[in-house]
Amino acid sequence: MPSHIVTHAGTATPAQREHRLRTLDEIVLSSAATCRASDPDDWFPLTEDETVLRDIARKLCGDCPIQASCLERQLLIEEGMPLYETDGITAATTPLERYEIRTGVAGIEVAA
Ligand code: SF4
Repeated sequence: MPSHIVTHAGTATPAQREHRLRTLDEIVLSSAATCRASDPDDWFPLTEDETVLRDIARKLCGDCPIQASCLERQLLIEEGMPLYETDGITAATTPLERYEIRTGVAGIEVAA
């Protein structure tokens, strides 16, 4: 996980949020994403063991150079969603980790 992430979830207007999401889409869907050539099934492990999931997440995203943008994008996408509606590994995080980040405080700062 990136060592320092700041999002503006909860403080942006809907238009600002959509604009930011489009910008992040362009970054995450670019060729810089190290997961572009991977098997999509890898991102939805069939285990609910959080320790195993976290290990898989770190391994899959490794040193991806756009991890911070990827996480910010996913947090925006999942904003307001209950944990049970989220799924999959993204930005070296599990759904539970992202839920914990989202339900922290607005203007999130996360240190590794
Ligand atoms: S951080 Fe992980 S999920 Fe996000 S683009 Fe990089 S490899 Fe893909």
